[in-house]
Amino acid sequence: MKQIVSWLSALGIAVSIFGCASAPAPMTPLMAEHLRSQPPIRFLLTFDDGPSASRFANPTQSILDDLAHNPVQSGIKSIFFVQTHASGGGGTELGRKIMQRENDEGHLLGFHTATPHHANHRFLSSEELEQSLTDGVADIKAITGAAPTLVRPPFWNYDQRTFAAYRQHGLHILLTDLSANDGKTWGITFSPRRRSNLVRQLSELREHIAAGERPAVNACIPVVVTFHDVNRYTARHMQEYLQILVDSAREVGLATSAKPFYDERSELQRAAMASTVARSDQPVHLPGVWNWIWNANKP
Ligand SMILES: [Zn+2]
Repeated sequence: MKQIVSWLSALGIAVSIFGCASAPAPMTPLMAEHLRSQPPIRFLLTFDDGPSASRFANPTQSILDDLAHNPVQSGIKSIFFVQTHASGGGGTELGRKIMQRENDEGHLLGFHTATPHHANHRFLSSEELEQSLTDGVADIKAITGAAPTLVRPPFWNYDQRTFAAYRQHGLHILLTDLSANDGKTWGITFSPRRRSNLVRQLSELREHIAAGERPAVNACIPVVVTFHDVNRYTARHMQEYLQILVDSAREVGLATSAKPFYDERSELQRAAMASTVARSDQPVHLPGVWNWIWNANKP
């Protein structure tokens, strides 16, 4: 079973990176009219798998620099879903220093893993999962002074059991609306179709926004975007990605807030909580082909 899932996962990542460059969903006159009565969108940036503990051109540090200072909007605050026990990252002294920097600079820390590797929580025993959640929450609390409230399940995978375990630890699942498809689990670190991918995903989301299905928080509709800060390609292109997001919104006819990115931690927290998964059986949209993979492998 695990092998099948791993194989399907690898296939899914390859397909999401290299294939499916389908055209953006079309805009109808009725949709355009409905959009005019909707509040503007605001991008809520999230980063998975970090921090990097590399001493050479550290990608997480580079991303922190770019979020603080860039030509699009300086002082952007985002959510880092960290791996607090990762051997090349959060489990090291440098990793902890960087997580401290993330907190000190006004970003939010969320839980991703507290195992040495990127373990799928569904494949952990209840004892292992419990230990991982206890460790991860304590690790983050030691840095920020408060227990985290947000979790991003590795591989976007959860079930009733893991959902309930998260809740026991006060954690709410935040999925994503847009994915940069930059995960480097299988060593693929580049994203040749980053612009068209984001435009297409945003055009699909536009239908839900036009239908009034997306809640506004403080007069903006949060649009969750996922990157991977351990990816050097992402780090090198971070400023470009910020511009691409703003351009993509314009291209698909979605108005952005005067400040297109969140820049204040408590507002970021409110917007993120409003975007979390309310129930374990709630229908959700996962990026790429992950819906297909996990629906084909229901427990
Ligand atoms: Zn991950």
